[in-house]
Amino acid sequence: MDGSDERPQAASPEGQSDLELEAVHARIRVCTLCGLHASRTQAVPGSGPVPADVMIVGEAPGFNEDVQGLPFVGAAGRLLDTLLEQIGLSRQQVFITNILKCRPPQNRDPMPTEAESCMPYLRHQFRLIRPKAVLVLGRHALERMLPGVGSISRVHGEFFMRGGVAFMPCYHPAAALHNGGLLNDLQRDFDRVRSYLDRLLPAPEPVSTAPEPIPPGGGQTPAAETEAAAADPTEQLTLL
Ligand code: SF4
Repeated sequence: MDGSDERPQAASPEGQSDLELEAVHARIRVCTLCGLHASRTQAVPGSGPVPADVMIVGEAPGFNEDVQGLPFVGAAGRLLDTLLEQIGLSRQQVFITNILKCRPPQNRDPMPTEAESCMPYLRHQFRLIRPKAVLVLGRHALERMLPGVGSISRVHGEFFMRGGVAFMPCYHPAAALHNGGLLNDLQRDFDRVRSYLDRLLPAPEPVSTAPEPIPPGGGQTPAAETEAAAADPTEQLTLL
């Protein structure tokens, strides 16, 4: 015995969330709750850090995603990466997933029963990721996550506050690949998300070693930040 403390260390809250998320993803990979399990190559649970300020929810995996087991890896994924880069975010900083975790054959529209079977996984991910902003990509994700707010062409770029979390519908990047006229809208909507995060999140640490100035208000938390921090997670759970 060398006297060192060999008791197991308790996992941090982030570590516990990581483990729980991995357990959810393991269940998704073997899920047979709807008929899509029969035609998938593999399920696509999602990817990204936990927690994450930004969560992105699309419709369903496509051909490339089904092959690779990762979300948004085809041409639409490359466009999504570019849009994120333009607002100073990388894929490693956001959590990306879909309403459906398995590819519908021939990329057909999701069926309501399939989405209902799969939604508990998204709810569980949402609870662990604890995002401040959720980008809802495309009309199918919009119908499922913000039912009744209006069509994607009418409400894209608007914020819908739910339990202190900002949900923003955007066109799906795949739609912008087919109709280049939507690209400007998509870029403008992503810019709005950047502005929202800039107002909400604390400024980056200054590089200077000079004494830190006392912030206006004597260091009080900005109102928007307080609102997000005070959001009741159980309320958020009922939203999706
Ligand atoms: S789409 Fe969702 S509910 Fe259906 S088999 Fe895949 S993981 Fe399960």
